[in-house]
Amino acid sequence: MSDMSPKFLAMKQIRDEIVDLKESPLYIERVENGVFPVIGAGDHDAAIMYIGEAPGKNEAKTGRPFCGASGRVLDELLAHIGVKREDVYITNIVKDRPTNNRDPKPEEIELYAPFLDRQIDIIQPKVIATLGRFSMEYVMRRYGLEAKLDTISNLHGKQFVTTMSYGDVVIVPFYHPAVGIYNRNQLPELKKDFEILKELV
Ligand code: URA
Repeated sequence: MSDMSPKFLAMKQIRDEIVDLKESPLYIERVENGVFPVIGAGDHDAAIMYIGEAPGKNEAKTGRPFCGASGRVLDELLAHIGVKREDVYITNIVKDRPTNNRDPKPEEIELYAPFLDRQIDIIQPKVIATLGRFSMEYVMRRYGLEAKLDTISNLHGKQFVTTMSYGDVVIVPFYHPAVGIYNRNQLPELKKDFEILKELV
């Protein structure tokens, strides 16, 4: 039986709007390279929501978040804390791949972020785990923690409580999993940071 729950329908509406987002400067990537937007994946009732930056090459090819090299590191981090992918929700701020994997531009973040805000409202997570500097900065600014912003090297693994329309939420900034691809020596630190999530849910 197909899922017709209000959450499913609200997510589907977001997906349809993003699929049709021709005004995005990144839409051309889909046309020229035959790639897809990446909306997000996982449990719509998840207690933890992970927010990355933007799809990479593999993600744009498949339409699934974190399915390439960064995804393998993320899987390792999730396994470390005994969490299954299907029990969390994983998405990005920017839903289309920036050309040649460059950093997302402020205007791209501004265009796609309202979709992320709506996804947060639908899922109503207890914990938001930001992956990397871009999602940390966006989420902390957007949800009343701008005064606490600092570099990711100072904030990774720390918890910040904020109040959303549906209740209190803990925001925890993490390094982007790609850090673990380029520097395997940093993996123990990434794993240690993730351990905080075991205490929070
Ligand atoms: N990096 C991200 O930030 N998100 C993905 O989905 C893949 C790589």
